[in-house]
Amino acid sequence: MCAVAASEVALDPSVKQFIDTPRKMLIGGQWVASESGETFDVYNPSNDQVIAQAQSSGKSDVDKAVKAARKAFDDGPWTKMAPAERQRIVWKIGDLIMEHQEELAQLESLDNGKPISIARAADIPLAAEMFRYMAGWATKLNGELISPTVPYAPGAEWHAYTRREAVGVCGQIIPWNFPLLMAAWKLAPALATGNTIVMKLAEETPLSGLKLAEIMQEAGVPDGAVNVITGFGEEAGAPLAAHPQVDKIAFTGSTEVGRLIVDAAKGNLKKVSLELGGKSPNIILEDADLDKAIPGAANAIFFNHGQCCAAGARLFVHERIYDQVVEGMADFARNIKLGPGLDPETQMGPLVSRTQLERVTGFLDSGKSQGAKAAVGGERGEGDGYFVKPTVLTDVSDDMKVVQEEIFGPVVTATKFSDFDEELVKRANDTVFGLASGVWTQDIGKAHKLANQLRAGTVWVNCYNIFDAALPFGGFKQSGWGREMGEQVLSNYLETKTVTVSL
Ligand code: ADP
Repeated sequence: MCAVAASEVALDPSVKQFIDTPRKMLIGGQWVASESGETFDVYNPSNDQVIAQAQSSGKSDVDKAVKAARKAFDDGPWTKMAPAERQRIVWKIGDLIMEHQEELAQLESLDNGKPISIARAADIPLAAEMFRYMAGWATKLNGELISPTVPYAPGAEWHAYTRREAVGVCGQIIPWNFPLLMAAWKLAPALATGNTIVMKLAEETPLSGLKLAEIMQEAGVPDGAVNVITGFGEEAGAPLAAHPQVDKIAFTGSTEVGRLIVDAAKGNLKKVSLELGGKSPNIILEDADLDKAIPGAANAIFFNHGQCCAAGARLFVHERIYDQVVEGMADFARNIKLGPGLDPETQMGPLVSRTQLERVTGFLDSGKSQGAKAAVGGERGEGDGYFVKPTVLTDVSDDMKVVQEEIFGPVVTATKFSDFDEELVKRANDTVFGLASGVWTQDIGKAHKLANQLRAGTVWVNCYNIFDAALPFGGFKQSGWGREMGEQVLSNYLETKTVTVSL
């Protein structure tokens, strides 16, 4: 049973029922246990208590799921369905997500620790929108008519065109920071383009993805077209990435594991797309509207407790407004209400796991030992949950570990710059990552100059963390390969076939 404090929302009876029975996995349209019979505990990060059990799959479970997806790809009906029918089903997944909005929001908050208010307002509707947006593409996957010259065949006539066809069986491995949304980012485009899928959920947060699997069945996704498994990285993720019958692997997670995925994929040279880490610069110019820039920069790092690959983790502030910005952000941080995810008043929940808590506090210790000072925060929060106080670190230099490495917690480093020049751009780009960046200014010329010069897949100007199903998202440099969302993501899941006809 799951204990919730008095201030927390009462769990929906269906949520209680969902977590009180060990969760099974969806393989070939059946709900099954792992072949080994092993399960693992799922924790509530707000209080360090076990809330549910999930199946711990291994190589043979992965193999079973891949075979189901292979059969569904080769035999249909999903892959042979009229595009309009696929569109209707993918759209319906979005509708059903919204019908189950409260249930999903509670599961997400319970499992991940994020504030229920955020899960309700952001995670769940964004996931629904992702399916609806991608549904529309199912009927618009057109090729091109091409007029070739073929110089070595003078006088010949040709009719040439391209077709865009599904890649095949897609392995998808997702992280725990936005469990349902990350599932939606990957499932929606893969389904809209007519692929079949084996998705491995993150071991920290399997609940909402398993609920989504039920929803996909209800929406009419045929048996085997989507298989959803649970388990750990090395036991379940690695065999999926290496499986010879998987045609494509899509991964979101750490850069370190991204490299392992690339290694694992090379056996059958499967297609790979990666959405990896970041250490994004967020630049506040002297002329910025600070009423917007200060809360904006605070949200850039503190949203989702800093557990965003795009988090604005390296703040660059013009020296003349530096003290005001740091003080403003510290004030903002002091007023953030830390608490359990399920408390409607909570603005920032715990980190997702004990491992993350130790990792983030380890970074705080490292920063302090190298001379960084915390203008606010810098330590654990109270209670049994994995709480870390929102933190602004000053007195940092660009070569410190806290400035170079991804912390994935509510910790921002604040540094000064004196001129809008090449040096600023160089410092902002001085990272192995290139996922996102932010610019705060009222000078449109400077904004666009920086937008051109920042080496990152996303530049937010006078805003931060704006995500939409229509906007491509992904990384330059070691932040990844390929893009999620927008029309661009379709190329992750489609092969181009050229048909040349001699007339
Ligand atoms: P984080 O460090 O943020 O927890 P990871 O990159 O470790 O992120 O995990 C993201 C996803 O990758 C999870 O679903 C995890 O189980 C999976 N994973 C971890 N290690 C491996 C691996 N060696 N091969 C495949 N997947 C893995």
